[in-house]
Amino acid sequence: MLKILNNEITAGLPVSEQDALRLNELAGTEIYELVTLAGRVTRQSFSENKVDLCSIINARSGHCSEDCAFCAQSAHHNTSASNYPMYSPEEILRSAVKVEESGVRKFSMVTSGRGIADSDLEKMLETIVLLRRETSLSLCASLGIINEKQASMLAEAGLSTYHHNLEAAPGYFDKICTTHTYQERVQTILNARKAGLRVCAGGILGLGESPAHQVELAFELQKLQIDSVPLNFLNPIPGTPLQNQRAITPLEILRVIAVFRLVLPQSILRLCGGRKEGLRRLQPLAFLAGANGLMAGDYLTTSGELMQEDLRMLQDMGLAVS
Ligand code: SF4
Repeated sequence: MLKILNNEITAGLPVSEQDALRLNELAGTEIYELVTLAGRVTRQSFSENKVDLCSIINARSGHCSEDCAFCAQSAHHNTSASNYPMYSPEEILRSAVKVEESGVRKFSMVTSGRGIADSDLEKMLETIVLLRRETSLSLCASLGIINEKQASMLAEAGLSTYHHNLEAAPGYFDKICTTHTYQERVQTILNARKAGLRVCAGGILGLGESPAHQVELAFELQKLQIDSVPLNFLNPIPGTPLQNQRAITPLEILRVIAVFRLVLPQSILRLCGGRKEGLRRLQPLAFLAGANGLMAGDYLTTSGELMQEDLRMLQDMGLAVS
């Protein structure tokens, strides 16, 4: 099957949902060939061998009204995540300057919550103007569900990108969240795009979904023509409903990255939360399997790889950063 697909993909034919599903059921060392194929597709689509780096700040943490089953910040779960109101523009600027000094050029400000309150939106707009003036970072925000007007205000203030994960495939979403709908998430993506913002949207893998749900998510992202796709891997948090969820294995992660690459040949596939715990020593192989983006530094409620270690890993692999 891989041989036939190899020829089809080399000839520029798109992978079908049925083929993607069969590939996402490969096991053991069969996955190696899939990884090799996906790596080739990546190099065909992105000839420069660059990895797109970004870094985030958790600008407001906890107290969230939503019940996303994986999330430490939901008020429905009993976790040890911090709770604090939104940082001031000056506090966010201090983090942004450090990120810029480390060589990362994209900075995302993330707030917990279903959406953003008017007072916090005002603060965010002020922050965007300040960061545009004081840094040369490309700015991204992840503020939950937003309407068209809010998206336009963010774009006018100078935001470049809006981040809003789909989290899970439509066929699995109601197992993960009952306080808002999958469609509300899609609508936020459409609102951001309508305002002229670039969209960064992906999901979390290892939530208990099937390989078919993973393929469904990849094709949803393809349909929405997402530019940058964050791939998170569940790192079960004590106190959440998924605390005892079986961990996705390193080979399963490589398989799903490769399948996403075949379905989304032109998107940045960004390794994000859970990569360290999920891939363990196989982390560099993710870049051979199709990843070409990386969230460096800390995540929302868990610590990431040290920035310098990430940069060294990429340098050792002969990959440049952008
Ligand atoms: S993922 Fe976002 S919306 Fe869901 S509980 Fe966490 S902070 Fe709230």
